[in-house]
Amino acid sequence: MDHFLYRDGTLHAEDVPLPEIAAAVGTPVYVYSAATLTRHYHLFTEALSPLPHLVCFAVKSNGNLAVLKLLGDLGAGMDVVSEGEYRRARAAGIPGDRIVFSGVGKTRDEMRTALQGGIRQFNVESEPELLALSEVATSLGTTAPITLRVNPDVDAKTHEKIATGRKEDKFGIPIARAREIYAQAAALPGLQIVGIDVHIGSQLTDLGPFEAAYTKVADLTRALRADGHRIDRLDLGGGLGIPYTRSNELPPLPLDYGAMVRRTVGDLGCEIEIEPGRLISGNAGILLASVIYLKQGEGRDFLILDAAMNDLIRPAMYGAWHDIVPVQDGGAPTHVYDVVGPVCESGDTFARGRPLPPLSEGALVAFRSAGAYGAVMASEYNARPLVPEVLVQGDHFAVIRPRPSFDDMLARDTIPQWL
Ligand SMILES: *Cc1c(COP(=O)(O)O)cnc(C)c1O
Repeated sequence: MDHFLYRDGTLHAEDVPLPEIAAAVGTPVYVYSAATLTRHYHLFTEALSPLPHLVCFAVKSNGNLAVLKLLGDLGAGMDVVSEGEYRRARAAGIPGDRIVFSGVGKTRDEMRTALQGGIRQFNVESEPELLALSEVATSLGTTAPITLRVNPDVDAKTHEKIATGRKEDKFGIPIARAREIYAQAAALPGLQIVGIDVHIGSQLTDLGPFEAAYTKVADLTRALRADGHRIDRLDLGGGLGIPYTRSNELPPLPLDYGAMVRRTVGDLGCEIEIEPGRLISGNAGILLASVIYLKQGEGRDFLILDAAMNDLIRPAMYGAWHDIVPVQDGGAPTHVYDVVGPVCESGDTFARGRPLPPLSEGALVAFRSAGAYGAVMASEYNARPLVPEVLVQGDHFAVIRPRPSFDDMLARDTIPQWL
């Protein structure tokens, strides 16, 4: 459930009519609902209770400072994958001891920043990274709390580009070698083992692969404890999928996920960390756009929008489906459109043959489920200004990232004197 509903024929974000935002900010623009973000965060805290737990929002799904602050104020931790994300989380007021640092390629500089600024744990993904972190922590005279991210060799049955838990994927250490590498970690100075981490992929629509992975992690917990390691935390990653269309089969609910977590790892006495991104932010955002032209092609009609693949790349990159709806409810679909943007690539196609009510130039449309991996993946390709973001709460809204002016954009480049 989200808070983007029609009232008197006009799509609203909570209590704000979307045309009001379009008039004030222009289009394209991302619009997020504070109530939906809050609700989704609470779904997870309720699902994991009564186990001790920390819900670490995956900043890579939506890194806007206002979104991070909203979640941080509710008590959320953050999962970051770069120094930039770490700095975002800190700038949004999240204390270091609620931030976990993931990613296969953390640099020494990134490790230093996090160790000096405060960090809950590093989720270490390789032996060379262990050595580097040991060196950096020792040189700073400190100790780095770590888990090792294990690769459980489980197929998440999701899109090829976002599956991360098979042995051919670049992530984590092979679970078969985990005991050996934990022993290596325990022998290194400057490191303190605090738990185990696993993350098998994104947009999972079935609990089976999670259950298979978590069962392996439970077995590994017992084995590592028998080896003398302290395993106090289990970071179970993110990845729970969301419905991108109402007609599809529904992915599992956080409540069912929580029951499965209790069933697989609940008796180990560990604090549970999870790293959901998409399920918290995905359906909490829409991309609002306007129709520029209706163009009749040969045997097909193109709906040319002012949003493009640079604003929302998921359809071009993953072949992803987003529901596209008119902001003014136009009744039943009577037309079939290819919905495209203005960018000079045929890949700039949001949907082919999409049934929609008749739309005219200037009409507003909304892409649903665009709050995750939307604005964060946006670019200025074709020198299109970076898409702005708006946060709605109740009957008010604020621009939380303004659209840059063309002057702002031009001012970022410099022409060398010798040209
Ligand atoms: C991407 C990612 C997440 C979040 O995945 P979602 O599908 O958005 O929940 C969590 N943890 C790690 C390590 C990730 O790479």
